[in-house]
Amino acid sequence: MGLLMSLALAAAATQPACAPDALGTSRTLTLPREAAAWGTAQHAALPALAPKEVVLTFDDGPRPESTPLVLKALAEQCVQASFFMNGAPLQAHAELARRVRDAGHSVGMHGFRHEHFPQLSPAAQLADLDAMTAAYRAVLGSEPPAWRFPFLEETPTLLAALRERAITVMSVDAGAEDWLPDQTPQMLADKLLGQLAKSGGGIVLLHDAQDQTARALPFLLQQLKANGYRVVHLRWQ
Ligand SMILES: [Zn+2]
Repeated sequence: MGLLMSLALAAAATQPACAPDALGTSRTLTLPREAAAWGTAQHAALPALAPKEVVLTFDDGPRPESTPLVLKALAEQCVQASFFMNGAPLQAHAELARRVRDAGHSVGMHGFRHEHFPQLSPAAQLADLDAMTAAYRAVLGSEPPAWRFPFLEETPTLLAALRERAITVMSVDAGAEDWLPDQTPQMLADKLLGQLAKSGGGIVLLHDAQDQTARALPFLLQQLKANGYRVVHLRWQ
């Protein structure tokens, strides 16, 4: 068997075929690496998104109990997303972090620990950013392009440091409040579609570290498709 054939079979074995009526990824939006901040919760809307286009983002992983389920649901629907990982689990579950990246998803930073940065000294905030950056480089072997603040709690210290390092800040436009406990897939879908109806689309915040989100994701993706939303994969140069 030729090498190319073996590679193709290996790829087929690890990447399940898309469902026939898959949501799919409608297009890729590649952003420059620059000091910018997107997401209408705190900043401007991501440029160049059309109405009903969504960018799916997942925070707080990687987590072995739930992130693989999220990867499976995304692969089945041929959807590409962006994962904002914390440095501690990124280091602890390096193989899983690389699996996320190798599945074609983009990876950004979400703080080494999930701190309330406004409660930390400037030195402690910068130490967390440095530890996060070092973990990202060590595990993924590249420069991190983007950052999402834990709890969306921005601080002048970190905003200035991120600007200086040309790291893009990613806020959100819509979500499902999937950190609240005991929510069924229907409850999460109702919240997400309700928020998207207001925002018209944009950056969607979900959490791959949440079991209920991982379980609900096939239904959430189906509901996005049924309601005419199209997925845009956000990448950085
Ligand atoms: Zn978080």
